[in-house]
Amino acid sequence: MKYLFFLFIASSILYAQKIELEILGSGGPEIDGRASSSYLLWIDNKARLLIDMGSGSMLRFEQSNAKLESLQAVVLTHLHIDHSVDLPSFIKAGYFSQRVNALDIIAPFGNEYFPSIDAYLQNLFGANGAYRYMQDVLTPQSDSFQILPVTIHSKNIIKKYYKDFSLELINVYHGTVPALAVRITIGDKSILISGDTNNKNANLEKIAKNVDLFIAHHAIAQHAGKYAKRLHITPKQIAHIAHVGNVKKLVLSHRMKRTRTKEEESLKIISKKYKGIIIFAEDSMKIEL
Ligand SMILES: [Zn+2]
Repeated sequence: MKYLFFLFIASSILYAQKIELEILGSGGPEIDGRASSSYLLWIDNKARLLIDMGSGSMLRFEQSNAKLESLQAVVLTHLHIDHSVDLPSFIKAGYFSQRVNALDIIAPFGNEYFPSIDAYLQNLFGANGAYRYMQDVLTPQSDSFQILPVTIHSKNIIKKYYKDFSLELINVYHGTVPALAVRITIGDKSILISGDTNNKNANLEKIAKNVDLFIAHHAIAQHAGKYAKRLHITPKQIAHIAHVGNVKKLVLSHRMKRTRTKEEESLKIISKKYKGIIIFAEDSMKIEL
């Protein structure tokens, strides 16, 4: 019996997955030496999931030695420039890679202010798109790899399953912008990425229970103006979600000049309510789960 127990422990150590989240872009849309929003999930040293493709994310992806071939999906939390603009560069790079499998690009529905992911890809690569010289990427005959738009229509939690992880996606409030938050589950580990939101509809809590790692977009300080608060969560709200979610590690990302001078204050506010580990995000920082 003892021997069997030893075997069980040894095999679980042997097969324990190495799970890391790399912050490719820790910044917002301004010029400050940081890439804009982007995160890369590594499982056993293979890049499996890319969340957001803000400006500079492709360069950080290259610097991390990640391969397009190993990706199983991409999520764009919303279609603001600082979360999506590098997409054409990644797709163009595909022509020079070994990747042949189609790639899902998951994103929210469209409205009168923003295109759906289908419309966005048509605007880029369709017959009348800006990059119509690459129309083949929307077809199975692509000389790069085919990209498949996956629209999250529902306001409820939507689950998606991939070989090495699963996703729970939920619409979050970001002014007039359709936006998503995402929870990633890998074995018994989980990561929550807030995306940009002021959490007006309190949807973040719905997917925040017992996450190992919470990437919160800390784009405004506590005493930000009304308009900024219509779009982004405050440090107090971040602390609340980290607390109710029983989060193990909290990473503050989407750092901007307006918050960087107030980070001491934000830290104080958050640590009053949330007692776990708090880390400020940097480009290319890898966090092991
Ligand atoms: Zn943003």
